[in-house]
Amino acid sequence: MALWYTEKQTPNVGITCKVNKTYHTEKTPFQEMALIETEQFGKMLLLDGAVQTTVKDEFVYHEMITHIPLFTHPNPKKVLVVGGGDGGTIREILKHPSVEKAVLVEIDGSVVEICKEHLPEISGALDDSRAEVVITDGIKYVREHADEFDVITVDSTDPVGPAVGLFALDFYKDIYRALKEDGIFVAQTESPFFNDDLIRRVFKDIGSVFPVARLYLCSVPTYPSGLWSFTMGSKKYDPLEVDTNQIPELDTRYYSAKIHKAAFALPKFVEKLVESGE
Ligand code: SAM
Repeated sequence: MALWYTEKQTPNVGITCKVNKTYHTEKTPFQEMALIETEQFGKMLLLDGAVQTTVKDEFVYHEMITHIPLFTHPNPKKVLVVGGGDGGTIREILKHPSVEKAVLVEIDGSVVEICKEHLPEISGALDDSRAEVVITDGIKYVREHADEFDVITVDSTDPVGPAVGLFALDFYKDIYRALKEDGIFVAQTESPFFNDDLIRRVFKDIGSVFPVARLYLCSVPTYPSGLWSFTMGSKKYDPLEVDTNQIPELDTRYYSAKIHKAAFALPKFVEKLVESGE
């Protein structure tokens, strides 16, 4: 008998995948977690029913949340990831030779454990000597650090449960303080089709804290609507002013020097969200 899993992405839309195997289910103190194997996307991590990452398409999200800010900063040495317990963002960060330290602050230790056990191709870099894993609330951690990081990435779940505060103005102010004087921050900011109100608000808030605010896009088949956004706040450097001829060749499958610029070319309806808050 064929088994299928449906994530209800909105009350009216879902994505359904044929399931070959269930490796793990658990109710952690923070969320419900499942690690399943789907026919189409391979192994898939679910938190509270929402797809977090799959072996087939994870490269898009992890490369795009990482290389755009890290190639915008001229010399990123110390990088912080808030959330991101699967380890994919740390894997991409450590591809940059300038990086001396990459700290992962994840609230739920069970996510890290299960990804280490079942998703070594994504989580493997967490054992690198330049990586440090801290299990605590990212909001508290960021509040307690000042003038320390070159780049901070917020690789969070959707704005529900423990992640609500990761989309708040106060958190962006704390991020600003935790960054060095020329630091850069990026957050995953959901789907322009389904989360337009959130994107409008977050872009406005980030723009009120950072002198440079930019939104960019990529395509992730397993995320709601398939079109995904990231919002960047920067104290000094503008990702659009990067000389893309200087971007070295890296072992990536989605990100490239051309994509670095193209990702900021927004469809008109998305441009409207960030320009006028309409
Ligand atoms: N790429 C994913 C996406 O967009 O669906 C996000 C993946 S990653 C698994 C998200 C992580 O953020 C989860 O493991 C969750 O436990 C963590 N998280 C949520 N709220 C957090 C908080 N306040 N502090 C630190 N980590 C948090």
